[in-house]
Amino acid sequence: METVQRTSQRPPGIRELPIVAGQLALDFANTVDDPLGPERFDHVIDYEGLLNWSERVRIVPAGSVTALRSTAEQHPRRAATVVGRADSLRSAINETFAAVIDGRAPTTGWDELQQFVATAIQQARLVPVGPQLAPTWDFNELESPLWPVAESAYALLKSPLLGRLKRCAGCPWLFLDQSKNSSRRWCSMEICGTDQKVRRYVAKRADRRTA
Ligand SMILES: [Zn+2]
Repeated sequence: METVQRTSQRPPGIRELPIVAGQLALDFANTVDDPLGPERFDHVIDYEGLLNWSERVRIVPAGSVTALRSTAEQHPRRAATVVGRADSLRSAINETFAAVIDGRAPTTGWDELQQFVATAIQQARLVPVGPQLAPTWDFNELESPLWPVAESAYALLKSPLLGRLKRCAGCPWLFLDQSKNSSRRWCSMEICGTDQKVRRYVAKRADRRTA
């Protein structure tokens, strides 16, 4: 069954996107579900998908989501351009962090990502959060949902938490392993972990039967 996906509206049988990376930029990198499998689904294939995701991970306040939605309806071509930019940002994040995992210098990914980071910082205001200052944005431009994502990728690259970056043992998704003994292997036990456990169990049983 080869159907071309046109909308972020989920058909029956396509699950809600799991948010499991434990870090904003990585969760954005993981917005194509089942990327190599039969149920591949891009949740940010249109502007509505980008808005829904932004609202779900709570980077854009509900009032701004409503305003951005009506702007996108009035300017569909500008909204489509932003969807293309979102796709570039996602690839840049994936490439940059894949390089980190493989111990390579993040060259091409970073070349692309740093443009997004520069814009994000240019657009940011700083507000006190406890003893620190944190960036915040006015979400009144169609591209504004990309800014916290880009800033969060940059923050992770500079953080000691980068040492906790991993790729799932069962799929290409990225996540931060914050377990005490750094033993997390799956994007999610329910998604990839169980699958693997079942496969191992079936393989073992088959071994026993042939032994
Ligand atoms: Zn996985």
